[in-house]
Amino acid sequence: MTPYVLVVEDEDALATLLHYNLEKEGYEVGVAPDGEEALTLVKERLPDLVILDWMLPKVSGIEVCRRLRAGPKTRNLPIIMLTARGEESDRIRGLDTGADDYLVKPFGMSELAARVRAVLRRLRPGLAEDTTQVGDIVIDRIAHRVKRGGREVHLGPTEFRLLDHFLRNPGRVFSREQLLDAVWGSDVYVEARTVDVHVGRLRKALNQGQAADPIRTVRSAGYALDLGD
Ligand code: CA
Repeated sequence: MTPYVLVVEDEDALATLLHYNLEKEGYEVGVAPDGEEALTLVKERLPDLVILDWMLPKVSGIEVCRRLRAGPKTRNLPIIMLTARGEESDRIRGLDTGADDYLVKPFGMSELAARVRAVLRRLRPGLAEDTTQVGDIVIDRIAHRVKRGGREVHLGPTEFRLLDHFLRNPGRVFSREQLLDAVWGSDVYVEARTVDVHVGRLRKALNQGQAADPIRTVRSAGYALDLGD
């Protein structure tokens, strides 16, 4: 899965430059020209990271940041704030409001790429990499292969995405609704019960050969992946 980065920037030239360079770095990129549209786009599809300009029409960057931090689904969304030179107090306020990092304009594209990589590495371990290992499970996102304890695990496409999502967030409990949004997409209508069916299949595939069950069912809450390293 390609990480999806949402760029929120009202300066056309900079938005285009960011779009071009982030795509070149291998990200999928969305662009919103103002804060209002940014909030709408985030609702439609949760990004893996938001690059958020401070000064925006309609809803300011700082307000977008505040609202994202207040939302249960967007509370942990990685945010890099863009500020103009000289907005020192604003920069600090930006971090107070919950941005994970900031860049002062003008900045170079290699600097931006480095910050994006660093924030993703810190907050979304596994997302920026082609392969991730958690415990004895290894996922290869390029070859679309999964191994557990060296043994090949055959998964359907939905189970693969489900496992990928768990491996990106080990130990975190996800409700069925959160898994639906993350794996099936929020615009698809699927019953919550369907999640149970696919988790069941994933479990069965992973646990062949009597390996310990890595998926924890959290009563009335959802599921989490737990593997001791
Ligand atoms: Ca601006």
